[in-house]
Amino acid sequence: MAEFIVRTKKKQEMVDITERVADLVKQSRVSDGICLVYVPHATAAVAINENADPNVCEDILEALANLIPEGRWRHDRIDNNAAAHIKATLLGPSQAVPVRGGRLRLGTWQSVMLVELDGPRERSVIVEVR
Ligand code: ZN
Repeated sequence: MAEFIVRTKKKQEMVDITERVADLVKQSRVSDGICLVYVPHATAAVAINENADPNVCEDILEALANLIPEGRWRHDRIDNNAAAHIKATLLGPSQAVPVRGGRLRLGTWQSVMLVELDGPRERSVIVEVR
């Protein structure tokens, strides 16, 4: 198991972690298997989508904001970040990517993204390759 830290800079953002995950796959020497990317956080998530046009990430965050408005949830009375918890639950804390020939079998337009939903914070990313 490997782990690295991402320091996010905004309240909400998507950070491309594809290269860091790919390096860990290389180091694992696994040729054919599966790579699990997981964040041990309640207000962050892992998503796989396009980052070639960064507008895609902005659109995803805007769509989530429209779906899940801020400031109207029970948990807001405790630490005012219920929307971030709900978004993180919908996206999920992990993604699994097939490994083929020692490389992530991502599509041309796919990137692995850490989704920050209540930053800026220090986030851990755990990578398990088998
Ligand atoms: Zn909370």
